[in-house]
Amino acid sequence: MNIVKSNSAVAIQTMGRRKKVFNFGKELKKKNNITTSKNTIYILGKLYQVYFFYSNTKVPSIELENHHIVVILPNKYKKMDINLILNTLTEKFYDKIAEQEIERAMEKVRLMVGFAPEDFEIKRLKDMAISSCNATKKEITFSPDIVKYDRNAIEYIVLHEFCHLKYKIHAKGFWQMIKKYMPNYEIYKNVYSV
Ligand SMILES: [Zn+2]
Repeated sequence: MNIVKSNSAVAIQTMGRRKKVFNFGKELKKKNNITTSKNTIYILGKLYQVYFFYSNTKVPSIELENHHIVVILPNKYKKMDINLILNTLTEKFYDKIAEQEIERAMEKVRLMVGFAPEDFEIKRLKDMAISSCNATKKEITFSPDIVKYDRNAIEYIVLHEFCHLKYKIHAKGFWQMIKKYMPNYEIYKNVYSV
């Protein structure tokens, strides 16, 4: 699936501000071949409604508006399970913006704590884990799916893994270190189990 117009968080924000290209409500009434199920995607903590249209096109295209995403699919996709399409689309969106967002958060945390891991990787982890740290190798892995959360939460997840480079387990020193750099960490502590 091609993501035609939105390939970074910056693009998403820019596009969110741009003028709408068509009257969406009017379009919805006109089309009778749309899927109006309750499809949603979270991107950087913001909820987007996803609307699917089928059209006589060869490749899928995606338009990101202020509060919704319009997906135009070739007619041949009609046979396909919409949840499968939505899941693929969601993963593509996350993959596209993960690199930029995670690097941004890592740079912020690096300046905060004064060190960084030897290496890091962005890939989906087993058991839906959102991140992990190999303290021995000094390597951190983040799932691209963390970009569903807002930037403050992403920074907490990054700081958490950086602190594991110094403290392997969630002992007192570990939480003291987190608190030093993020005094309000408790609002994230139980929400993101990392
Ligand atoms: Zn941890």
